[in-house]
Amino acid sequence: MKAAVTISKEVIEFHDHAEPQVMPGHAIVRVRALTLCGTDLHIWEDDYATELPIIQGHEFAGIIEALPDDGGGFTVGDRVAVSPMFYCGTCYACRIGRVNACEEMSVYGCYEDGALVELMNVPLEKLYAIPASLPMDLAPLCEPVSIAMQAVNRGRPIAGEKALVLGSGPIGLLATLYLTELGVDVIAADTVQSRCDFAKAFGATDTILIDPTVAFPSASHKATLEAWSNSEGPSFVLEATGMPSSLQNAVEVVTTAGRVVLVGISEREVSLSMRTIPIKEIDLIGSRNSENLIAESLALLDRHQDVARALITHRFDFLDVPNAFETLRSSTEMVGKVLIEMPGA
Ligand SMILES: [Zn+2]
Ligand SMILES: [Zn+2]
Repeated sequence: MKAAVTISKEVIEFHDHAEPQVMPGHAIVRVRALTLCGTDLHIWEDDYATELPIIQGHEFAGIIEALPDDGGGFTVGDRVAVSPMFYCGTCYACRIGRVNACEEMSVYGCYEDGALVELMNVPLEKLYAIPASLPMDLAPLCEPVSIAMQAVNRGRPIAGEKALVLGSGPIGLLATLYLTELGVDVIAADTVQSRCDFAKAFGATDTILIDPTVAFPSASHKATLEAWSNSEGPSFVLEATGMPSSLQNAVEVVTTAGRVVLVGISEREVSLSMRTIPIKEIDLIGSRNSENLIAESLALLDRHQDVARALITHRFDFLDVPNAFETLRSSTEMVGKVLIEMPGA
């Protein structure tokens, strides 16, 4: 079988690998569809805490090709999505049930070989049945949906409240979709007009275009936020850009006693007022990966297939994976996801 191996910075080679054999507690999954994200781009650019070579791919779905005698409730031919995260079970985070923040975490395609391969051996407990009405090509999106859901849940959303989502990339858009479903009123902000426009399809009642060269909030932003929130400002701000200025903006505009959730990740540093956070008594909350949300994420995708499909802006065949990464890098205005369709899909 073929595997796409990222052998060095921006170089992918197709290697012949032996097919996996059935093992106790594992299913052999024929990978059918896979989506790429910003993390994949960083790994491909050799700008990530992992050693190359590696087989990339952590957002994926497929069909069960073979099972051990005890199939764990699955049947050969079942369509499944995969939770790509592994945790130690013994560190502090794991012991208190927050396995998504495990200190010894591993993730398929990030720290160990992933899904850009025809067949994979996957532990049965990592498999989730895809709803019958959900097409295979949308199923890999359950992973980024779960990241967005985790970030929203970390902020303890309340129906009827006002949320500002900073950044309308895939995670910001999916968070907007989920918040809207929970009855939260969302304004989405981005520095690119086409992304702002897209956010309305995901439920945002209004959008704010941010000019990175002008201090935020500008007079017109202020007017928009005040009219929308009865002059209070948003009680929930979700930071989904990883830009230091965006976190500063979040702390600036969140209402007193509000919550700010950070899901955007960056190596950069940010300066924040030591006064604002205690005086406003802001909850500043980090969010990483997701905890036990894949089944809910698949259900959310099933309910919103049209917007989920609109999120996929580019499609490539497996053997065209190098071009998929080039596209991911070069498309500065791209709002959507890049999908890889595997052989036989
Ligand atoms: Zn990802
Ligand atoms: Zn752990």
